[in-house]
Amino acid sequence: MIELRNLTFRYERRSDESRARSHPIVDNVSLTIDDGSFVVLAGPNGSGKTTLVRHFNGLLDPDAGRVAVNGRRVSEDVVAARTAVAMTFQDPRDGFVAPTVRADVAFGPVNLGLEREQINQRVQEALAAVQMGGSERQRIDRLSGGEQARVAIAGALAMRPDHLVLDEPFVGLDEPARQSVLERLEALSTEGMGIVVVTHDLRELCDLADRLLVMSDGQIIHDGPPVSVLDQLSGEVYVPC
Ligand code: ADP
Repeated sequence: MIELRNLTFRYERRSDESRARSHPIVDNVSLTIDDGSFVVLAGPNGSGKTTLVRHFNGLLDPDAGRVAVNGRRVSEDVVAARTAVAMTFQDPRDGFVAPTVRADVAFGPVNLGLEREQINQRVQEALAAVQMGGSERQRIDRLSGGEQARVAIAGALAMRPDHLVLDEPFVGLDEPARQSVLERLEALSTEGMGIVVVTHDLRELCDLADRLLVMSDGQIIHDGPPVSVLDQLSGEVYVPC
């Protein structure tokens, strides 16, 4: 479970008067994400979605408020938070740490200090889950955008996280690649993994997700089952669906 309580964050770290007056990027957000839930976080560009989710596993530290994962404060145990909440980035290339598929997907398990046998098992399992089995020796820079997106997800899955957080996973993907990622997410969700997708592309996701959050100007302005949130949004033009 991911719990945010009164989370506030600004990028400027100066403690001068102008900073105190500047508008926070995340503005006093409280939110609980249950294990196994499939959540979509939508909202206009610049509303603070990426900034918000980067607090889930300690990639950013709040100015005020608290973040806990599975009941433990992220600031007290960032390793536990990153093991429980794995994240992929808007441009998958930002998250790759090695030139080949195997080395990249193995990176997390290696850092967890697992035995070689367990690492191999996790790499194979994660690649199979995104239908990239057999690609271990391939160079990541030679893969298509869709394949890179799936390898990025495999890297996150190799941590066997409780929650998989994907930041704009469909940007730059063609329709078959997008469908393939969607199918993988549906399968992982069915298996019980918590999924959080940050996106402004809601097509199909509204059917898969059990909760839709809409962010605007640093705050969550809608939260509920996708059908009822979309109902409330009818007439508001800023969430394309
Ligand atoms: P979204 O994901 O909804 O598009 P972001 O969280 O990426 O929103 O950005 C929210 C706001 O924070 C934007 O105005 C953006 O320009 C600003 N911002 C994002 N990253 C940084 C950063 N590293 N430094 C300063 N400002 C940033």
